[in-house]
Amino acid sequence: ILRVDNLTKTYPSAGQPLTVLHAVSFDLKAGDTFAIVGPSGSGKTTLLGLCAGLDRATSGSVWVNGIQLDHLSEDQRAAVRNEHVGFIFQNFQLLPTLTALENVLVPLELRGQRGATKTALELLDRVGLAARAGHYPAQLSGGEQQRVSLARAFANRPAVLFADEPTGNLDPDTSERVVNLLFDLNREAGTTLVLVTHDLELAAKTQRTLRLRGGKVVEEVARKISGK
Ligand code: ATP
Repeated sequence: ILRVDNLTKTYPSAGQPLTVLHAVSFDLKAGDTFAIVGPSGSGKTTLLGLCAGLDRATSGSVWVNGIQLDHLSEDQRAAVRNEHVGFIFQNFQLLPTLTALENVLVPLELRGQRGATKTALELLDRVGLAARAGHYPAQLSGGEQQRVSLARAFANRPAVLFADEPTGNLDPDTSERVVNLLFDLNREAGTTLVLVTHDLELAAKTQRTLRLRGGKVVEEVARKISGK
């Protein structure tokens, strides 16, 4: 469902170009749960962005749901993202001028989905925020914004859900709630989860963990998860 082959990313810079990912490879099957860990600056967010088609690699290849992203235009990649990918950003990135409901509606309306409002309300209910549908992001707590962001990421029933530090800014209770929702979606809908996290307890809940250091894979751990 997600194949990454020999991925390298070099950012141009005034001095020396900066290579932040070196020949990273992995392969995930539908329904897998996967964590990317490593110290700050090790390239985790960069790798996630390349996998999700938000940015383009310098060399190497990415396939999402059988579609190779490397040679696609920005518009084509956006279409693949809307069809196959959900993304939860570190800082939520909700649109501030839209209500919670309208934020969740965006991906549904982009696809011209019928009954979009009903679907969006069901998703907000699912994350426990039906009563907040008319609130703007500024009127929501961090945990609530993260749950709206999860509802939005899941609106199109993506094959792969990418989450950058999904629990990063949340208190323990809210964090547990968000994590449970993510794994519920994985179990119920078979959504592949790819998580970037500093939280080793969260990483331990996934089937595989990739550890990056200085843009290189230094360890890959596979574990048996009960019930899987
Ligand atoms: P953190 O845990 O702090 O979020 P990370 O492991 O996600 O870190 P990245 O955000 O992927 O790390 O960054 C990896 C390296 O790439 C860093 O040294 C960063 O400064 C550099 N970098 C990231 N984005 C750019 C960019 N657009 N231009 C130049 N350098 C960048």
